[in-house]
Amino acid sequence: MSLEREYECPDCGGMHFWKTASMEVHLGTKIKWACDGCGYEFIEIDDINTAGGVSVDSD
Ligand SMILES: [Zn+2]
Repeated sequence: MSLEREYECPDCGGMHFWKTASMEVHLGTKIKWACDGCGYEFIEIDDINTAGGVSVDSD
């Protein structure tokens, strides 16, 4: 499991996020990511994240 990932930050446009926390929840593994550049944070549960543009396919 990686402690860092590439993701385009909606705040500063940076591409480097660090994992700051993770925990098991009923939906899966909940992971908190923080932008290395500005500190912007978002929560991801498995492949679903809260950073915007979330689409949940139920199939
Ligand atoms: Zn940022």
